[in-house]
Amino acid sequence: MSKATRKIKTLVGINDDRAEWAMKAVRTFQSATKLSDADGLDTAIGDLIGDLHHLCDQNGFDFATLLGDGERHYAEETFARCDKCKRAFDLLNGDGDNASSGKYLCKECG
Ligand SMILES: [Zn+2]
Repeated sequence: MSKATRKIKTLVGINDDRAEWAMKAVRTFQSATKLSDADGLDTAIGDLIGDLHHLCDQNGFDFATLLGDGERHYAEETFARCDKCKRAFDLLNGDGDNASSGKYLCKECG
């Protein structure tokens, strides 16, 4: 687990739920496609993303647009606003955190 990933878990908490929901989808996909744990979680995620692209093609959805929508949701879920100066900062890049105080503080205020 990367340092950035650990930070997000302690900073936001709700992203743990989001990752758990995604894991349930991946586990269902692994079962449906007969992928095993030995094939690797990363392989299953990559295959699922590819198959989601096929699903988009079949339904007339633009995959790139939906991928961009997902990236925007992710960015919104990993950004915070400093409780002191109100500046938005990226939690993943370590531009601030709330680990010690329970408040979101940017680097300058924390
Ligand atoms: Zn600040």
